[in-house]
Amino acid sequence: MDVSLAFLGVSFVYICFLNILFFRKEHIKNNETAVFSKLLIVNLFGVLIETSCIFSIYYLGTQSLVVKIVNKIFLLYFLTFLILFNDYVITVIYSNISAKKQLILTKLNRVLYLISSLMVILLPIGIYYKDKTMYSYGASTSVIYIVSFICVIIWIIQMIVHMKEIKRKKCIPLIAYIIGASALTLIQKMNPALTLTTSMETFLMFIMYHTIENPDIKLIQELNLARDQAEKANNAKTEFLSSMSHEIRTPLNAIVGFSQALLEEDIPDSSKDEINDIVMASDSLLEIVNGILDISKIEANKLEIINTEYNIDKIVKELVPLTKTRIGEKPIEFKVNVDPTIPKVLYGDHTRLKQVILNLLTNAAKYTKEGWIEFKIASVIKNDICRLIISVEDTGIGIKPEKIDKLFTKFDRLGVEENITIEGTGLGLAITKKLVELMHGNIVVQSVYGKGSKFTVAIDQKVIATEAKETKEITNADIESVDCSGKKILVVDDNKVNLKVAERLLKSYNVEVTTVSSGFECIEKINNNEIYDLILMDDMMPKMSGTETLHQLKKIETFKIPVVALTANAISGMKDKYLNEGFNDYLSKPIQKPELNSILIKFLKGGK
Ligand code: ADP
Repeated sequence: MDVSLAFLGVSFVYICFLNILFFRKEHIKNNETAVFSKLLIVNLFGVLIETSCIFSIYYLGTQSLVVKIVNKIFLLYFLTFLILFNDYVITVIYSNISAKKQLILTKLNRVLYLISSLMVILLPIGIYYKDKTMYSYGASTSVIYIVSFICVIIWIIQMIVHMKEIKRKKCIPLIAYIIGASALTLIQKMNPALTLTTSMETFLMFIMYHTIENPDIKLIQELNLARDQAEKANNAKTEFLSSMSHEIRTPLNAIVGFSQALLEEDIPDSSKDEINDIVMASDSLLEIVNGILDISKIEANKLEIINTEYNIDKIVKELVPLTKTRIGEKPIEFKVNVDPTIPKVLYGDHTRLKQVILNLLTNAAKYTKEGWIEFKIASVIKNDICRLIISVEDTGIGIKPEKIDKLFTKFDRLGVEENITIEGTGLGLAITKKLVELMHGNIVVQSVYGKGSKFTVAIDQKVIATEAKETKEITNADIESVDCSGKKILVVDDNKVNLKVAERLLKSYNVEVTTVSSGFECIEKINNNEIYDLILMDDMMPKMSGTETLHQLKKIETFKIPVVALTANAISGMKDKYLNEGFNDYLSKPIQKPELNSILIKFLKGGK
């Protein structure tokens, strides 16, 4: 009996401590914590009731009514703990069974509880106490033995049936209960003076405390706060990069525009070379700005894939000269091999596809000193889907096998030691991979260090037509001979330098250019019945944006002049945004000569 009391004392202290520990901490509300909190409180009372049983028998004797009542309360406690543990088994351990089945089992559990509690209360109980050994007997106690036996048998059967589930951490309390109950029966058979029921259950509580899902809410809240702050910082970064890109583009517009215009002047060859260098340097700067903008858009999930009909041959035609320029004077043979059976009209995001291929071709040109570069496009057609298999192979410096995994990580430039002289930001392949993924394709790389590399991209595109549609192609001859004499253009921009650039660029087309520095002045001119053939309108203007000005202009009944948006906001999806707003087309800054040519041919010469 002394040993039993010692066990009960320790159990009481421990269960009090566990209750304080658990209830002091804010915990998530789920099935596990709900059942566990009930079990904790019930067990605390259990320890007190079992102690009361011992003292009452000791002081009042076996025949006292109080002793019988206290013993019945203890039997009810035992039953309550058992039934609650059944709840734990049903809702937590067999969580994979349907909610409906769980509900039926829980209800059956409640019925079992009700019937057996009634039987415990109504049936007779006897108390045995001799030589420090005390226990209850009779029909009331037998009910508990029978219910415990049934439960343990059901648990064992369930464990055998759900063998795979048993390996989970949450099943440990169930196994511990079965082992504990069996060990307890055995110990009490050998030493009837020991009463260890609630102590065993307290030990079970200790196990459950460590196996149930009970994350620290405070920590979660702190982590959520940290995540929100990181997200805010990331958004601020995206905003910053986007406005930076705009700010950098505006002065770049002046540099590129004036350099291009200067090239058309009668100037010495040495100066032309220098101006060409200025144009190339501006192009590199623009590439870097675009790269940073792209990666931040991708990270903010703001980069959209815009699918339209396109012709792959046209993309190849544009990419070949660009790559040749990149190769420059290096002794590299550039081989182009495009499958002629690729359907002529495909559906996909040709701008992004071109960007992906250009990145790979630029890298091949950058990282190859001599030998050859092969650009190949093969295709596999299945129903109306054409899988484009695009590969770029080179005999360049190659990539070390251990570095291949890091290849697509942003800002990671491999072997910086080796390619220290080759300029780059380490963004190209990170963007390429993300773009390929956004287009639901994949990219693989094979490389032998010192020998060369091969990048292969596979992308599925919808087939629209196998033959090309009839369109009036703009030829180089067309472009060179754009003469728009007699035509009038109105340029609207709040930035004086930009107006000067536009004026200077348009000079070579022989058009009559009028410039105004706000939307209000533009509306005034139209209201004064001034006639123009085209309006180039900057969007980002203070007080009244280009878009707002256009909306005002559209309200004028007689207004029929085509309006082209001019913007330094070169984010993907911008063209569609401007077309939706009612603009007739879109020109991004810095204004590039070929794009300006196309716009002028389209709106002033009736071309496509
Ligand atoms: P960048 O070229 O601006 O450094 P990328 O993301 O395009 O950035 O490429 C990441 C790195 O992968 C490069 O720094 C280079 O070390 C390596 N790399 C990419 N393409 C090739 C290639 N064709 N041959 C050898 N190394 C390459």
